Amino acid sequence: MTAHVGIPELGLDGVSLDPPLFDPAAFRLSDEETALAAKARAMGQAIFARRAAIHDRDATFPTENYRDLHKAGFLAICIPKGQGGLGAGYRAYSICAAEIGRYCGATALTWNMHVCSTLWSGPLADDLDMDAATRAAHERRRALHYRRIVADGAIYAQPFSEGGAAAAGGAAFETQARPVEGGWIVDGKKIFASLSGHADYYGVLATEHSGDGAPSRRNTLYLAVPAQAEGVSVVGDWDPLGMRGTVSRTLLFREVFVAEEQALMPRGLYFQAATRWPHMFLTLSPTYIGLAQAGYDFTVKYLRGEAPGTPPVKRRMYPTKQIAVAEMRIRLEAAKALWFQAVTEAQANPTKEQVLRAYAAQFSTMESANEIARLAIRTCGGQSMLKSLPLERIYRDSRCGSLMLPWTAELCLDRIGREALYEPGETDA
Ligand SMILES: Cc1cc2nc3c(=O)[nH]c(=O)nc-3n(C[C@H](O)[C@H](O)[C@H](O)COP(=O)(O)OP(=O)(O)OC[C@H]3O[C@@H](n4cnc5c(N)ncnc54)[C@H](O)[C@@H]3O)c2cc1C
Repeated sequence: MTAHVGIPELGLDGVSLDPPLFDPAAFRLSDEETALAAKARAMGQAIFARRAAIHDRDATFPTENYRDLHKAGFLAICIPKGQGGLGAGYRAYSICAAEIGRYCGATALTWNMHVCSTLWSGPLADDLDMDAATRAAHERRRALHYRRIVADGAIYAQPFSEGGAAAAGGAAFETQARPVEGGWIVDGKKIFASLSGHADYYGVLATEHSGDGAPSRRNTLYLAVPAQAEGVSVVGDWDPLGMRGTVSRTLLFREVFVAEEQALMPRGLYFQAATRWPHMFLTLSPTYIGLAQAGYDFTVKYLRGEAPGTPPVKRRMYPTKQIAVAEMRIRLEAAKALWFQAVTEAQANPTKEQVLRAYAAQFSTMESANEIARLAIRTCGGQSMLKSLPLERIYRDSRCGSLMLPWTAELCLDRIGREALYEPGETDA
């Protein structure tokens, strides 16, 4: 039976939905997860899918999608209900991001950067250690960020990457925050800054440093730098292989004053989060679970002669094509099952087994999404990779997943191998 969902705030009444990525009964989703995922799917399928090709072609930011996300309450998906949000937890959010990623990878990926500013400062920070005064001050500050998002539709970006070892977790960020009366002076550069020029606040990771001693990762600050602040500029172009609608240009911060109230986490908390809540880095993967499903769904429709925009020619009777679809299905099922398990386990202080599983889920998702797209193009054939169809975009977008720091495919392999063979502190000396 086909489910129908209406979103009156977007003028959608009764969208006839594609089957869910995660069947609520099979994956035992809560009623709330089921309803949120259906709404995300309706938005993606009925609205974002038709805009995706234009933003991909022109490498433009999907501003209208963000207006729709705001109207539907989805900019505030992880903000508590008592503060005007939808109150979704980590897993509910992740399933929604996967549903949106099926229809527009760039929107899902940038939406992740935005949502993480509330997820990390919200439910994730609640799990971490703070004394009572620090927690109270944090709650006051995050309420300000929540209000901006709920009331004004403010968009937050998450520019961490600098081109050095910091985003991979290997060194302190070169972007520095010098403490001054009432806040910090921020100086530095961020590359691949998705949403640049389109976010209202840049959630920047910077090393607090007054000039004495060596910069330390323990002193990482997570600050919301207002896009309009003096000294903030966006430079360079964005003309990449895939994920073109993320508009990930370079951001420069030159002596930017950032007030204390802009802290998204208290001092020392980002470092604590990165060490005690590692699943915070798995949140880039939902987009790519969506892309994996999209590559598979396209292939089934195409071979059945039912893909929109293609002639009704059936190609499903050839055994080689059936085998390719079987291979794609096996990869998809394996990636989804592992990902769902890892996402379900996200919590503070995970066990070593859970952390290894999270790395494996990230690796498997990112690599499978592109492998499925590759098989899809080979199997569907030349006509399927024309730009009039979504498959070649899925192929290019999915290629970018393995490059996302700090959990790139290479770094996941590195960590799984090392951490499986060595206990903390063990050496061969
Ligand atoms: C579409 C897209 C959007 C993005 N959006 C954002 C964003 O919004 N915010 C943001 O902060 N970043 C973003 N990134 C950036 C991303 O996380 C990387 O920083 C970016 O791909 C640049 O990487 P690099 O070439 O500088 O990687 P490098 O650090 O040069 O690494 C190259 C490769 O070497 C490997 N490697 C790196 N360090 C190590 C190590 N210590 N040990 C072993 N192997 C290692 C990794 O596999 C990596 O892929 C985005 C990237 C893409 C593709």
